[in-house]
Amino acid sequence: MELIISNLSKTYSNGVRALNDVSLTIPQGMFGLLGPNGAGKSTLMRTIATLQDADTGSISLDGIDVLKDKQGVRERLGYLPQDFGLYPRINAETMLDHIAQMKGVGHSGERKELVASLLNKVNLYKDRKKGLGTYSGGMRQRFGIAQALVGNPSLIIVDEPTAGLDPSERNRFYNLLSEIGENTIVILSTHIVEDVNTLCSNMAIICMGEVLMQGKPKDGLAMVDGKIYQKSIEKSDLDQYRQDYNLISTKLIAGKLSLRIESDEDPGNGFEPSPADLEDVYFSFISKKVDPITL
Ligand code: ADP
Repeated sequence: MELIISNLSKTYSNGVRALNDVSLTIPQGMFGLLGPNGAGKSTLMRTIATLQDADTGSISLDGIDVLKDKQGVRERLGYLPQDFGLYPRINAETMLDHIAQMKGVGHSGERKELVASLLNKVNLYKDRKKGLGTYSGGMRQRFGIAQALVGNPSLIIVDEPTAGLDPSERNRFYNLLSEIGENTIVILSTHIVEDVNTLCSNMAIICMGEVLMQGKPKDGLAMVDGKIYQKSIEKSDLDQYRQDYNLISTKLIAGKLSLRIESDEDPGNGFEPSPADLEDVYFSFISKKVDPITL
């Protein structure tokens, strides 16, 4: 199974070009779509989920023309949007039962079994009678996964799922997502590099509507390995370093500014070589489009 996106473009009526000739091949397993806010991720996710149209291009899911056969895709799709409204007074069990009914799980006994097994899977069974409005951020996202899994989808889209989760909730959510991946395509759209690092066997980096890189995380790492150097500087010297080096990221560590640069040769001047990580890959590509200081 494969999702093939070819030459997809979209310009909103206000003139913003959210997608610019996007082509991606997404195989089975967990795929990370990584990009800063405003990169075009949600536009792409919503287009794949048949919720909006592109201006040009095509998407094919195992031979189904996604942009034409919307019903065919919806039957195979599980979607956890970036902001999903929950009815605060309805409890998780009742809500999942409704969703299962809408997705055509007709028999009430069958639904009951399905709802119980999904609630167990996302570790919300004991909270199934609580109103959804009382759930924490992590519980809401786990509920979101449960509703996305109704109907055994072969394509699952999760848009910015870990934003706003605390570290332990995020971990729990990672564990849950990693259990799903096997026989499905799971697209995880995120601006958090750690999400992709932890979960994804394939990835793409997108910025200003354009795909800057796609492949395996280790292919990305190979591109920058041996080229990353680091140095701590005074904040007031930043402008000079910015002019003199290919700056890819800055971080404040104990009040001092730690710079990371990319260079084919040893830059000297107190810079130390540093092992590359996926964040360097990300910033290396993004900094060619956007000033790293503003990220
Ligand atoms: P991301 O999900 O990566 O943050 P989006 O797809 O939401 O990116 O947005 C991409 C660009 O399109 C942004 O500049 C955003 O402001 C713009 N945009 C998104 N939705 C709309 C819309 N409905 N109308 C106009 N512009 C939009």
